[in-house]
Amino acid sequence: MARAMNFNAGPAALPLEALERAQRELIDFAGTGMSIIEHSHRGKAYEAVHNEAITLLRELLDIKDTHHVLFLQGGASQQFAMIPMNLLKPGQSADYIVTGAWGKKAIQEAKTVGTVRSASAGDPEAKPARVPKQSELDLDANAAYVHLTSNETIGGSQWHEFPSTGKAPLVADMSSDILSRPIDVSKFGLIYAGAQKNIGPSGVTLVIVRKDLVETGRTDIPKIFRYATHAAENSLYNTPATFAVYLVRNVLDVLKKNGGLAAIDKQNRAKAKALYDAIDARPDFYRCPVEQGARSLMNVVFNLPTPELEAEFVTATQKLGMVGLKGHRSVGGIRASIYNAVLPEWVGALAQFMNDFHKGS
Ligand SMILES: *Cc1c(COP(=O)(O)O)cnc(C)c1O
Repeated sequence: MARAMNFNAGPAALPLEALERAQRELIDFAGTGMSIIEHSHRGKAYEAVHNEAITLLRELLDIKDTHHVLFLQGGASQQFAMIPMNLLKPGQSADYIVTGAWGKKAIQEAKTVGTVRSASAGDPEAKPARVPKQSELDLDANAAYVHLTSNETIGGSQWHEFPSTGKAPLVADMSSDILSRPIDVSKFGLIYAGAQKNIGPSGVTLVIVRKDLVETGRTDIPKIFRYATHAAENSLYNTPATFAVYLVRNVLDVLKKNGGLAAIDKQNRAKAKALYDAIDARPDFYRCPVEQGARSLMNVVFNLPTPELEAEFVTATQKLGMVGLKGHRSVGGIRASIYNAVLPEWVGALAQFMNDFHKGS
């Protein structure tokens, strides 16, 4: 069987080892005579998987006891609403640093809940995409929190160093770069990520949140939307996405065995470099619409001289067994999503193809 060279933006490639384990364990999980999908979320078999996934996350990201690790549902998009519902109290305001399409969605949703302000100037979707410098930020010292998107999956920009936000908790949408590099979790009030880019399948959303923020969160919202509800029950208040959490466990186990975040970070940097080098070597032909210092290591976006050449490029890559290289429908161009599970060989093949395609046209 030939695995596709999968450059999808999300849902995205998963480690073959994690899938094969799921295949082996599917019908008879750990000698129980049934699949993990068929187990009660209150039973020992599932509980062990659930807790193993949490423990692996704590180990990999070095998450201290100051923070809860939650498995929620509703995707990162639900967090756009849940964050202000929990953390933005009447009379308070929250700051949003918007660097692209996802940040824009986050601030728009927050506006339906309470008072928010933009802490950065300019159109976040203007080209070239960039992230603001600390000196360019207009932060409110009394903000309930400061929100940013660590990696803009569509525009292809990424924060390589996070801003300081004083006493205002930093909240980050890390949907498309969580677990791709080591981060200092203690610097964040809340980190959230839909699983389907770098952690596992869709259906489960990871939330890492400071315990004091949960304790002081609003209680005048429906119970199901309160972080406190889920934190008190170890994310077993209601039925979690058990099969998704199981697959997350498999993915995290592979990540740990392969040397954890330091090792994957090194590999991710080398992968991104191969593609950016291929772009920069032919500036007359390939153009990256992102400022040098803000280029994403996860989503490499670039343009060719014309949309026709871009379409030709995508068709040719498909013939080589590469999928998912067409840019997001809102911006066009080419996008190579090179998450943790995207093999260096696939990226090498793409870089080689970029060279060949340039020569041939
Ligand atoms: C994919 C993505 C989302 C949306 O995630 P859903 O789980 O589909 O709601 C939000 N933010 C970022 C940065 C993303 O990449």
